[in-house]
Amino acid sequence: MKKYTIAIHGGAGAIPKIIPEDQKKLYFAALEKILKYGENLLKKGKPALRVVELVVNKFEDCPLFNCGKGSVFTFAGDHSMDASIMDGRNRECGAVTGIKRIQYPISLAKDVMTTSKYVFLNGKGAEEFAKELGYKFKNQKYFFTEKRYEQWKRVQGSDSTSLDHNAEFAAAPKGTVGAVALDIHGDLAAATSTGGMTNKKWDRIGDSPIIGAGTFADNSTCAVSSTGEGEEFIKNVVAFEVHALLKYKNVSLKEATDEVIFKILKKGIGGLIAVDKIGNFALPYNTLGMYRGVATSKGVFEVKIWE
Ligand code: ASP
Repeated sequence: MKKYTIAIHGGAGAIPKIIPEDQKKLYFAALEKILKYGENLLKKGKPALRVVELVVNKFEDCPLFNCGKGSVFTFAGDHSMDASIMDGRNRECGAVTGIKRIQYPISLAKDVMTTSKYVFLNGKGAEEFAKELGYKFKNQKYFFTEKRYEQWKRVQGSDSTSLDHNAEFAAAPKGTVGAVALDIHGDLAAATSTGGMTNKKWDRIGDSPIIGAGTFADNSTCAVSSTGEGEEFIKNVVAFEVHALLKYKNVSLKEATDEVIFKILKKGIGGLIAVDKIGNFALPYNTLGMYRGVATSKGVFEVKIWE
């Protein structure tokens, strides 16, 4: 059998171990289902780029995670989503930010990459582009979830922004999502999608739609998707940094990702998932936990939140 690896994340943060058992079960079941789905696509020979998009679509439909349907509330009380995707074969990439009415922001990012001459579209313009492509629009009610609303109510009107899965939001731990894959043809791809930070103000944009910070893929090295406090991931150009360490220092994927997550970033900031060109994987985080999973052609299949 030809080699493949897929890794997924559903966000990193101060995820307390005291999550009620029934909630825990829901997260594990969702992660397992999505991972299995992605693995089956890779087994069938689907290209990594398509697989990471389809896997992220599944997350975008699942209200447990902070993206698509389950996106957090902004300061203004609405939802504003960001996403990006990158093809390791040729460095083609696409990104969108400030998306308010599209069910699958990652697919819009992919369409920016494949059908426009641009790389990054914002807000209304991005939605006009979606309209031209015949996308169906959702109204903001579609993105309402009771738990996100409660999270937001706790900080509404204040200046506080937060990763939605941090301790104060223990009752509703969820997060930004991402997928990285090496397909059986030897190609890499990465995708990241998010509702951003709860109570974000002034059209704040995090790392998730930023190529090099939230997402990066290059067949000569690896594919990476980040999660955590976006500002720090932007400052440290995290996803590209992992690529650069592999490329210019020739270190292993584990060494490169450990360097970035445990030495360059401060503690409690976040994590990432990465797969390299020969199928090694790394899923480090410097927070209490990270929703994550990995499956490989060598028979690895695991889903975890904590160590
Ligand atoms: N990185 C995302 C952002 O800053 C948040 C997250 O990963 O949960 O928008």
